[in-house]
Amino acid sequence: VIRRLKDILQRKAPAGVRRAAGWRSLRRRYLKAYPQCALCGGWTKLEVHHKVPFHVDPTRELAWDNLITLCEAKRFGVNCHLLFGHLGNYRRANEHVDAMVFWFRRYLGAAEEEDAA
Ligand SMILES: [Zn+2]
Ligand SMILES: [Zn+2]
Repeated sequence: VIRRLKDILQRKAPAGVRRAAGWRSLRRRYLKAYPQCALCGGWTKLEVHHKVPFHVDPTRELAWDNLITLCEAKRFGVNCHLLFGHLGNYRRANEHVDAMVFWFRRYLGAAEEEDAA
């Protein structure tokens, strides 16, 4: 309940939208399968983000392929969940999150290889 209130206060979820039964256990299973931030690789302050928000399409609230693990730990100085999941505003959804994560990981990998060389 506290978490839910926090979500509403931070405007992550509009008030009055109920979470589907089974969301909590699905979330737990998802974090077990994907325990790292897809963007920065961090292990803390993880959120299971909905690519299509559950208040926009409730039928996809529990869809495994609609989920992605993103963190709020600011490991690289930014909130991965807020910036990549929501383009800086929790009221927005970023429909290109998969592509952005893909390219970020790719460029990061290339940069790290260069650093190591
Ligand atoms: Zn989110
Ligand atoms: Zn992260």
